[in-house]
Amino acid sequence: MDDRVELLIVGGGVAAARAARTLRRRGFDGSILLVGDDPLPPYNRPPLSKELLLHDEPLPDDLLLAEPVAWYDRRAIDLRTDVAVISLDPGERLAGLSDGGIVRYERCLLATGAAPHRLPVPGADHAMLLRTAVDARRLRVAMDANPGAEVVVVGGGFIGLEVASALAVRGLHPTVVELGDVLWGGQLGSGLADWARDRLAAAGVSLRLGSAVTAVDADAAWVGDERLPAAFVVAGVGVAPRDELARAAGLAVDDGVVVDGAGRTSEPAIWAAGDVARIDGLRVEHWHAAREAGERAALSILGEAVPPVAVPWVFSELAGVTVDVFGIPAADDEARWLVPERLLAYRRRGRLVGLVGLGGAIAPETGRELVARGASEADVRGALAG
Ligand SMILES: Cc1cc2nc3c(=O)[nH]c(=O)nc-3n(C[C@H](O)[C@H](O)[C@H](O)COP(=O)(O)OP(=O)(O)OC[C@H]3O[C@@H](n4cnc5c(N)ncnc54)[C@H](O)[C@@H]3O)c2cc1C
Repeated sequence: MDDRVELLIVGGGVAAARAARTLRRRGFDGSILLVGDDPLPPYNRPPLSKELLLHDEPLPDDLLLAEPVAWYDRRAIDLRTDVAVISLDPGERLAGLSDGGIVRYERCLLATGAAPHRLPVPGADHAMLLRTAVDARRLRVAMDANPGAEVVVVGGGFIGLEVASALAVRGLHPTVVELGDVLWGGQLGSGLADWARDRLAAAGVSLRLGSAVTAVDADAAWVGDERLPAAFVVAGVGVAPRDELARAAGLAVDDGVVVDGAGRTSEPAIWAAGDVARIDGLRVEHWHAAREAGERAALSILGEAVPPVAVPWVFSELAGVTVDVFGIPAADDEARWLVPERLLAYRRRGRLVGLVGLGGAIAPETGRELVARGASEADVRGALAG
């Protein structure tokens, strides 16, 4: 027998959970089925590369889970974990599930997230990836089993640097091998990257910039002929949107499901939100963006007014210092420290397009608001003083 639901949510991450929460909060009382292929209910990934690696206590549920387990029952949301949606027929509004079930939906939200790239080199299976809670626990076990060991981390982006920081704090000896000459792919400019390089070095992280890992084996990574001994190797080399379901269903897909600011796809009854979606030409792969996209899609599903897409805010941690990035700075923006090693402003053609606050230098909503209005330097300084 078919399941019939008013809303099918595909994918169990924060975009999915946030959409379900917004719908219930706004009074939607139709049936909601949330299908996720992870064994856990929707959870927050940021602690997987921070608290879970750093602390000995188990990760508390309220830090990990997007909503408590009991919340789904309380809000009459049918949550099915460990089940994938394997096909979608937009014409008939049918979805096929990996457990053999068929769902007939009125409307559907795709929130399938992203999957990490494997290293494109021989022996890539020896390199651990970090996306799920299972991946994080496996990494933690490897850390605990190899005290003081050398480890190679491939990739000098957010995930690679967070993992390397955690390894160093736990007394291991990480070497980050990064293809580019500048950390974070150069996107945050050389001023911040120079600060990060010094901070990482002081914390005990070695950096190999401008180097490509060419092979991995059970106890080493190779940079050409050079062998870098490693008790284990971790790769953080970017993610790809999990848009295969949408593509097979004939939706417009272009490195992500193509959507507008309200999450509407090329199919009238299907929305998409989170890491899988390309919003007005831009795909942002971060926690706040995913939650806010889930909220906007929910409002759009309800036919309510949808707020504009907010200025992105990415938070990270580097060798014990929190890093907040507001806006989308680019390598060739003019970057200037307004407060040395605390607050960096990025300008493009004279207009403020990004801010980076270190150690909580600026409150998130203030940082976003200043970038949204392209504030002057005096205004940014004033906001700090206030
Ligand atoms: C280790 C780590 C640390 C991070 N730290 C930060 C941070 O500090 N700050 C920040 O801003 N961002 C951070 N991020 C990024 C942030 O977590 C993501 O942007 C966010 O999780 C995206 O949420 P989502 O709901 O779009 O997708 P996801 O969290 O990827 O969830 C999608 C879910 O859908 C499931 N799924 C996919 N296809 C199907 C299908 N066909 N059927 C059923 N289920 C399916 C997936 O398995 C997954 O469980 C981090 C990410 C990782 C991996």
